[in-house]
Amino acid sequence: MIKRLCWIIGSVLILFLIVVFAGINQWIAASSRVVSIVENEVLSVDPSFYLETRTKVTNTYRFSISTLLTENEQMNQSVQTWVRREEEQFLAYVERNKRIFHEDRRAQLHIYVNMNKVTNDLYGIILDLNESFDEVKKRKVIKTFNLDLVENKILLLTDVLNLDGSNLNDIILIIKKQLEMEANSRKDLGEWLEKTLKSPDQLNWLIEQNVLTFYFNDFPEPVKVDIPVEHLTSFLKENIIQRLNIKIVQKEEVVLDPNGKYIAITFDDGPSPSVTPRILDILKEHHVKATFFMVGSQVEYHPLLARQVADEGHEIGNHTRSHTDLTKLSEEQMRQEIEGASQTIEVVIGQLPTCFRPPYGAYNEMVEKIAFENDSPIILWSVDSLDWKTRNAETINNLVLEKIFPGSIVLFHDIHPTTADALPTLMTALKNEGYRFITVSELLTLQETN
Ligand code: ZN
Repeated sequence: MIKRLCWIIGSVLILFLIVVFAGINQWIAASSRVVSIVENEVLSVDPSFYLETRTKVTNTYRFSISTLLTENEQMNQSVQTWVRREEEQFLAYVERNKRIFHEDRRAQLHIYVNMNKVTNDLYGIILDLNESFDEVKKRKVIKTFNLDLVENKILLLTDVLNLDGSNLNDIILIIKKQLEMEANSRKDLGEWLEKTLKSPDQLNWLIEQNVLTFYFNDFPEPVKVDIPVEHLTSFLKENIIQRLNIKIVQKEEVVLDPNGKYIAITFDDGPSPSVTPRILDILKEHHVKATFFMVGSQVEYHPLLARQVADEGHEIGNHTRSHTDLTKLSEEQMRQEIEGASQTIEVVIGQLPTCFRPPYGAYNEMVEKIAFENDSPIILWSVDSLDWKTRNAETINNLVLEKIFPGSIVLFHDIHPTTADALPTLMTALKNEGYRFITVSELLTLQETN
């Protein structure tokens, strides 16, 4: 009797468990039914890399993830750890909010991978993450890895840049300036950037042959900043300079004859796209090096042209940020004008201006003090071509030839077409009189040694 009772109770219990189990199963199936799944599709994309893709679609979410794998487990782990964490966070969010997702409204996570071959043993991996839960809750993130296939490791920023001492602050300044130039509307980036940049380990960056790119993710869309490597040569590690085969341009030393008839010709207020390129061509044709006192705002408007002037071997001077009469300004405004232009020039050209010319030649003791602190000698002129006034090639030539003497600094403006018109004849005439052309700094050195 007892045996039979146990038998009945046992059967009922089993039946009950089956029903409960089936119920749970059905409930699980309803909450995340897998529609399709493609796992571990591995392709060889480069002798050193494999592309791994995984896609999964359920009734609540869809993800597709592609990553690159190498033959080195440690490097793979860093990349995969990041991907897994993103995936887990995504799935956890979907799980917590599963009621709001369904077949017509799936949560989405897509991670695409891009590879950037820098050299045979330096590669960049860029993971481009797009996550969206609804119209508002969306996220775009760029994650980068720099792979060193010689050392078999993922490079840290400190493997590439020397961040000791004040270097980090200098680099922050370069990045900030570059950002301001690229996106004029993003002046609000300052403080936020400072915060992000102060923890270099958290940075997303990519080294390439010619640029070091930084990605900032804290904004709705990742912000990308390219810094030309020639602006960073003083910070780059020797090993990287060699591996990237970066040519550090050394200025050729000009041997000056102490008894030579030297003059320095200078151009103010540019660069201007309508005149400066013509002047550059003329100078090149006559093998003449000149000094260009650039206005900061012009350099910001025409960065490529400014860089071209420097690349062609001319000296770059500072002519303030917005070409104002400095003697009418407060000390702080003066600093903004002088140091602001210096910083712009440094960012665009990769070197600080070597000298300074105040607009209208107007300066006072405070201007002198600031120029001195910035290691920028104040340079005026000894011969004014009056090109801004006469706007006539022949008049310009006659005036300069009449006033010129050995050691003089001649003032021109590379914003008037008539100045460019005057130059070819003038240079031929000056050369015929035995004059040789040097930059302002060379002229100063010559005068110091004499
Ligand atoms: Zn000027």
